[in-house]
Amino acid sequence: MARVLDGAAVAAELRARVAVRAQELVAKGVSPRLEVILVGEDPASRVYVGAKARACQEVGVRSTTHALPATTSGDELAALIAALNADSDVDGILLQLPLPAPLDGRRFLDLIDPSKDVDGFHPFNVGLLQQGRPAFVPCTPGGVMELLDASGVALAGAQAVVVGRSEIVGKPMAALLLHRHATVTVCHSRTRDLPAVCRQADVLVAAVGKPALIGGDYIKPGAVVIDVGVNRVEDPQLVARLFPGDPARAAQLAKRGYTLVGDVDFAAAGAVAGAITPVPGGIGPLTIAGLLLNTVRAACRRRDLPC
Ligand code: NDP
Repeated sequence: MARVLDGAAVAAELRARVAVRAQELVAKGVSPRLEVILVGEDPASRVYVGAKARACQEVGVRSTTHALPATTSGDELAALIAALNADSDVDGILLQLPLPAPLDGRRFLDLIDPSKDVDGFHPFNVGLLQQGRPAFVPCTPGGVMELLDASGVALAGAQAVVVGRSEIVGKPMAALLLHRHATVTVCHSRTRDLPAVCRQADVLVAAVGKPALIGGDYIKPGAVVIDVGVNRVEDPQLVARLFPGDPARAAQLAKRGYTLVGDVDFAAAGAVAGAITPVPGGIGPLTIAGLLLNTVRAACRRRDLPC
């Protein structure tokens, strides 16, 4: 069985570093502040926003959640973003996605002041990342890089395959790996013979949104497998197949009605890989730690303090 990469432990170390930096800033009279905008009732988004608010509190970052009804108009949302942009006491603005229809997330992300864009999704920051001089690295791929580095994974010259080409995970992930001199292939729904492409990977990153898509036959022996996917699975038969003889999973399914499964079949892939991340406890905690880091960095940069 592969070595299990403990994202939660690496995230805890990162959060501790951020907390120290936040305290140093407070001692200089700067109290980092994040504003989170949540529109509508999406249950997963509510859980993520709650976790982000708690994490801010733990490291000494002030945070406010603006919970707006699903009926919020585009003009109202734009006005809130403009007010937060104009408020010099605000360091970071996070717009939780997805937005309820008909609001178009892209349009509103574009309105966020790039100096407060702690998710790194504004085109200005996307451009800087592509040029290899990132201001704000998107939190999930940034978290993956933290984990790879903390785990001593050599990237220069390695074959890296990223499955998924979203703006928030796949594309920035590919850019970050490329800047670290990996040879990067990006796969998507039109990729031919995905298992064969994935088997080339020394480092395989799955960000697809399809539970357990990546099986053992996708894995090069000894590869490092990073599972970004977070999927709610309610099917007892699938859970029994993916986690045979795991009473904790069965109990979770019975209690909550679902269990969280990654894009990788953990048991099958783990039998071939050299190292693998679990779900949960892999990349999720690092994403939140990355947000805290970006918020503290925003507070520094906006005042020309060293980050
Ligand atoms: P998107 O839906 O935006 O993108 C999914 C990508 O996967 C697309 O590029 C799509 O291709 C590709 N894809 C879909 N089906 C296949 C397939 N059968 N074979 C190959 N490629 C396929 O998802 P996100 O990037 O937003 O998220 C991906 C996963 O990561 C989700 O499970 C999400 O919940 C999770 N996530 C986890 C985070 C964390 O903190 N751990 C943070 C963010 C996301 P195409 O472009 O052709 O449609």
